[in-house]
Amino acid sequence: MIPFNKPFLSGKELDYIKDAVSLGKLSGNGQYTRKCHGFFQERYGFKKVLLTSSCTAALEMAAMLLNIEPGDEVIMPSYTFVSTANAFVLRGATIVFADSQPNHPGIDENKIEELITSKTKAIVPVHYGGVACDMDKIMAIAARHDLFVVEDAAQAIDGYYSGKDGIQRPLGGIGHLAAFSFHETKNIQCGEGGMLVINDERFMDRAEIIWEKGTNRTRFMRKEIDHYNWVDIGSSLLPSEITAAFLLAQLENLDDIQKKRKAIWQGYWRGLKDWAEANSIRVPAIPRYAGNNGHLFYLLCKNLAQRTELIGQLKEKHIQVVFHYLSLHKSPFYRGKHDGRMLPQSDRYSDCLLRLPFYFELTGKETEFIVQTLKTSKDQY
Ligand SMILES: *Cc1c(COP(=O)(O)O)cnc(C)c1O
Repeated sequence: MIPFNKPFLSGKELDYIKDAVSLGKLSGNGQYTRKCHGFFQERYGFKKVLLTSSCTAALEMAAMLLNIEPGDEVIMPSYTFVSTANAFVLRGATIVFADSQPNHPGIDENKIEELITSKTKAIVPVHYGGVACDMDKIMAIAARHDLFVVEDAAQAIDGYYSGKDGIQRPLGGIGHLAAFSFHETKNIQCGEGGMLVINDERFMDRAEIIWEKGTNRTRFMRKEIDHYNWVDIGSSLLPSEITAAFLLAQLENLDDIQKKRKAIWQGYWRGLKDWAEANSIRVPAIPRYAGNNGHLFYLLCKNLAQRTELIGQLKEKHIQVVFHYLSLHKSPFYRGKHDGRMLPQSDRYSDCLLRLPFYFELTGKETEFIVQTLKTSKDQY
């Protein structure tokens, strides 16, 4: 059986956890947490980062930091994970869903401005598959209308955006805030984990407070104050040192992981692009302004029937392939709250997108087997 995902393990995880245990400080914001923070600050130039227990938690922090209140509107794609929307719904926001691009699941930047009203507070672009949204356009729209931008960079570690100025920027370093995930299905994982990136200095102090249950304990730990107190809203958002130790063992292998994942992506792309074209199936389109961080590889089938058929045929050969998001504007929870606009591209990705097995240990032989199985599949649709 070739599974869809196998979490990466570097082999050092248990050593670091053992060390964290022996240090005798297992709650969050200890030595390992600070090492992980340092890694991201150094490698990507992020000014302020905070590890969280998940990307969901980081998005919830972002909603708290932006003071999202009942009545506020937040614009995001419908083709995304539940947490992108749920984090803002928890604060009472109304989600205004935008459609995806015709040739990429990312938000259609040209459809954002028409959705802005006097109640709009934020735009949340999702870098689907680690492929950048057009951030120059999005940041310019946000600046014109005085809105905040929160990047859902859950899948976007080591992803890049090349702006009009020719400078390549790491994803997560462009919006006012950004959220990453280290869930076991992501390139770097610690089971459950995430990170908030704070690019706008106005949010840096308050982010630490929200992170520590609404207290100024982080300042106390730095010995800047002699006791800590309840000063704002917050929640329990830090991962323990056990999680941070595990994560550090992964981060140290980021270059190897990325090299391998990009090779897997290229293997699929080279193997499948001609066959796909001949069968009206599409391989991923990477816009010229976006890098490719090798997070996932998908095929865009002709229709739902063809996708269902392919999933079945591959399963017979013991290859597990899966579809991805279902449009949030049609979900049981949100369909009654959605304003009724049709989002045909989002629905198309919901029906037609098929993800192939993608993990570090996947061998060239296995990739080749998957490619050949697809090429010899019977197309009845
Ligand atoms: C994985 C993912 C999340 C959620 O991440 P968790 O760490 O599991 O909370 C949010 N948004 C997107 C786009 C994701 O892919």
